[in-house]
Amino acid sequence: MKTVHIDASRSYDVRIGRGLLDDCGRQIAERVRCASAAVVADDTVYALYGERVCASLEAAGVRTVCYVFPHGEKSKNLLEYAKILNFLAENRVTRADALIALGGGVTGDLGGFAAATYLRGIPFVQLPTTLLAAVDSSVGGKTAVDLPAGKNLVGAFCQPSLVLCDPHVLSTLPDPIFYDGCAEVIKAAMLKSHTFFEDLDKTSPREQLEHILEFCIAMKRDVVEEDEFDTGARQMLNLGHTFGHAVEAASNFSISHGCAVSIGMVMMTRAAVKKGYCKEDVLEQLIALLKKYHLPTEVPYPASELLDIVRSDKKTMGSTVTLIVPEKIGRCTLVPIQAVDVLDWLTAGGAE
Ligand code: NAD
Ligand code: MG
Repeated sequence: MKTVHIDASRSYDVRIGRGLLDDCGRQIAERVRCASAAVVADDTVYALYGERVCASLEAAGVRTVCYVFPHGEKSKNLLEYAKILNFLAENRVTRADALIALGGGVTGDLGGFAAATYLRGIPFVQLPTTLLAAVDSSVGGKTAVDLPAGKNLVGAFCQPSLVLCDPHVLSTLPDPIFYDGCAEVIKAAMLKSHTFFEDLDKTSPREQLEHILEFCIAMKRDVVEEDEFDTGARQMLNLGHTFGHAVEAASNFSISHGCAVSIGMVMMTRAAVKKGYCKEDVLEQLIALLKKYHLPTEVPYPASELLDIVRSDKKTMGSTVTLIVPEKIGRCTLVPIQAVDVLDWLTAGGAE
């Protein structure tokens, strides 16, 4: 069992270990001390793990109620959010209770936002069941739902009280969803560690899950502790995302987030080579590793199409755009550019 402790506006532990799912009742009862727990899960995850989580909580003396919603990003909306709030109220959930988000990033973001706002905030616990949720969304306290105008447009910063990460639950993840999460793992290596990049290259990810989870969660802890509310250093986590978001949006979200981030990292690294920030072999090694992880590396849209989307992205501040540019494997730098220069970077990145 590994523990990563996070000191943000709320201090909490992220525990990593096989068997934590079935032990979650004891873990939650000890650290969160709730009388009852509202378990929120999508239908797929509930069918796989819901009863085990409830049984563990009940065995630890925590009464449970369950809210199950249809899986998928389409549920991360205001209507589903309101349904959860009504469910909590109807079941007389109070601040002495807790919300347990059991699932991927959709469940964590949706359930977390309900917990952040119901009764002005109740404790919540993340039980991530996708690789993406384990290494990224369950840690750091960003919660949100989507609006028709765009993703994550309504939300709150709200740190969980506890995160329990059982690598065993990732064994039921379909390969495409698993590898999609690997894009964020490779991003962590590009940002922070050449050694970790080599680890990813040498050993298959399913054979070193604990190592991957511990590295990525510790990396995110460092960034979140430095800049919890995303006003500076946390921008580094956007490596591959500036152009990646544009690819995702241009595809009308038929290209998944991880695949889009993979393409975005390749574009940014290729542009970095052309502009003298890093050497050619960094690009070659990145492309080889992404391919090994079944992630795409070709740019599927013309620069003109991506340009409009980058400019309207919410991370565009006024007339400047901050790019996260690789210098070598394990080190990147923030490069603010003028909005008028985005086209030049897109073209240097390989968009025609
Ligand atoms: P998701 O929660 O929709 O899960 C993907 C699919 O996998 C779902 O269909 C789900 O039912 C299924 N699933 C989950 N766990 C499973 C398991 N163990 N076995 C079998 N199937 C399983 O999506 P996701 O990729 O986990 O997360 C994407 C979301 O995360 C997006 O909405 C994104 O905006 C958000 N996100 C948030 C943050 C943050 O900091 N809050 C960071 C990154 C991403
Ligand atoms: Mg991401």
